[in-house]
Amino acid sequence: MTDVKPLDFSTFHNVINNELTTTSETRHGINPANTQPNPPVPVSTQDDLDKAVKAAQAAFKGWAKTSFEERRKALHAWADAIDSNIDGFAQTLTMEQGKPLTQSSMELGMTTTWIRGLAAIEIPDTVIEETEDRKIVQRHVPIGVVGAIVPWNFPVLLAVGKIVSAVYTGNTIIVKPSPFTPYCDLKLVELATNFFPPGVIQCLSGDESLGPMFTAHPRIEKISFTGSIATGKRVMAACATTLKRVTLELGGNDPAIICDDVDIDVIIPKIGTLSYLCCSQICMMIKRLYVHEKIYDEFLEKLVAFVKTLKVGQGTEADTFFGPVQNEMQYEKAKDLFSSIGTENLKPALGGTIENSSGYFIPPTIIDNPPETSRVVQEEPFAPILPILKWSDEDEVLERANALETGLGSSVWSKDFERATRMADQLQSGCVWVNSHFDLGPNTPFGGHKQSGMGVEWGLTGLLGYCNSQTQWLKKSF
Ligand code: NAD
Repeated sequence: MTDVKPLDFSTFHNVINNELTTTSETRHGINPANTQPNPPVPVSTQDDLDKAVKAAQAAFKGWAKTSFEERRKALHAWADAIDSNIDGFAQTLTMEQGKPLTQSSMELGMTTTWIRGLAAIEIPDTVIEETEDRKIVQRHVPIGVVGAIVPWNFPVLLAVGKIVSAVYTGNTIIVKPSPFTPYCDLKLVELATNFFPPGVIQCLSGDESLGPMFTAHPRIEKISFTGSIATGKRVMAACATTLKRVTLELGGNDPAIICDDVDIDVIIPKIGTLSYLCCSQICMMIKRLYVHEKIYDEFLEKLVAFVKTLKVGQGTEADTFFGPVQNEMQYEKAKDLFSSIGTENLKPALGGTIENSSGYFIPPTIIDNPPETSRVVQEEPFAPILPILKWSDEDEVLERANALETGLGSSVWSKDFERATRMADQLQSGCVWVNSHFDLGPNTPFGGHKQSGMGVEWGLTGLLGYCNSQTQWLKKSF
């Protein structure tokens, strides 16, 4: 990757038909670490969307006919170019999202792994029957123009997962980043113009009116949405009007069940990290921690001690683990949830009070054995507040773990593999882990049960979500 100019991360444009465009109105995101404005970005209109859709439709005709090998080659070149700009992307991600640079670099690293990993998956036709007389084949053909609606917590990986899935299967795609985090997504697509024909990958930044324009557009054939459950329901309802294909990746409130036989010292750093990465703003972080009563007191004490060692600060400072939460809305939601500590008489074992600061900083908080009905257990916090709850009976804890309307991820931790897998089999979620949480891979389907989603992303099953099934009945003679 020597002939592509390094990206300039100071100005940000829409990408329509491989051209960088601006809009008469602009807006800007906020750096959550200091609440200062980030650079201006476009506010796209219906006209911008119509232009992009037209370009995407035109591009689809040619792109759908390219081979997997051609698409794979373009995707690899794009991944290499992202790698070459990795520092700029990581700094921009920290600027817009707030996550520490180490975690931004981790997200970027996952992103290029996902590009190469998804593009390695084979999508074979299935010969259902072949006789002398006829052949019946199931093929997987591209759908057309895809709209990608992206949230603000993992704006790079989640946008790229949708882009790769769409274009690798022969579709064209228009990305709509979250208005809170448009910067990296615009630059990723600007970079993609070097490797893909006009109209194949486009990106439009906008305000809150743009998402509904995507879901209403009659010529967008599929929406891949990641975000909250409430918005997911609105997206699905809007897509019903034109019967668009829809994939929904929604919120979660993941339980982790810790059995009494674990090696506490070994798992505490893992549990602490997997509860608080990205300031707990990950859909499938540990959000309800069920610890066996025999080890509860020691576990709580050691977890508090470990979390105290994790530094809160600006994402740009070395060793920061907790940056700010991403935006004012999230900050206010977190404050409201923290107010339930007082109103519900909960016992913080760590933190518990949000002090005023120059950014949206929230102290890591652990709530000691709150009632199952408390808000901090029932609601997805998306902020660093973790309830730790006691259990003693296996069936009862499984029932509590499964009690909510969410079902994104869940985990069981035990030395006894047979016991752990027996419990894991009874958990109701799209991913279930034993002795880990949040392991993900590009070759592995990822999605939610119950209200955590519809369909999956990634893996062969995820890719097939970007295809129409076509059954061909091929009679060899009349
Ligand atoms: P959100 O639902 O507020 O917004 C997501 C996206 O939808 C944004 O781009 C937003 O502009 C757009 N949008 C808003 N209203 C719309 C509408 N009516 N029509 C179309 N688009 C609309 O979610 P968020 O606050 O950005 O993200 C946080 C949530 O996302 C959490 O609940 C989290 O658990 C969930 N999430 C889920 C996954 C997953 O894969 N399951 C991954 C990350 C985040």
